Amino acid sequence: MIDREVSVAHLLYFMKTLLTAIFRREVTVRLRPGYFPFVEPGFELDIKCLICGGEGCPVCKQSGWVELLPCGLVNPNVLRMSGIDPAEWNGFAFGLGLTRLAMMRYGIDDIRHLQGGDLRFLEQF
Ligand SMILES: [Zn+2]
Repeated sequence: MIDREVSVAHLLYFMKTLLTAIFRREVTVRLRPGYFPFVEPGFELDIKCLICGGEGCPVCKQSGWVELLPCGLVNPNVLRMSGIDPAEWNGFAFGLGLTRLAMMRYGIDDIRHLQGGDLRFLEQF
């Protein structure tokens, strides 16, 4: 998303709203610093584990949190190289992987099930 005066608060609100709609229930999110060259600052976005509700389980490695996606404010150099003046415009970006989303949405306890090619498993969806 590119606009004027975009902040991390906009990113957080957008991600929480998007993930709540995808998972069809309230989600708790948190940001941790992370390095990704096309954003500055960059973050890892975690959600409270939807499998165990944050109590701790094998999916969240007993932490109560699951790393879901990388995100951040668009690096000014990316805007500059796109012909957009970073003094006037900024924005946020994120990378949303389908396997982790499907895992949380359907309560799948092992991400490897999605790569295994077992049709008995895959045809459930
Ligand atoms: Zn868990």
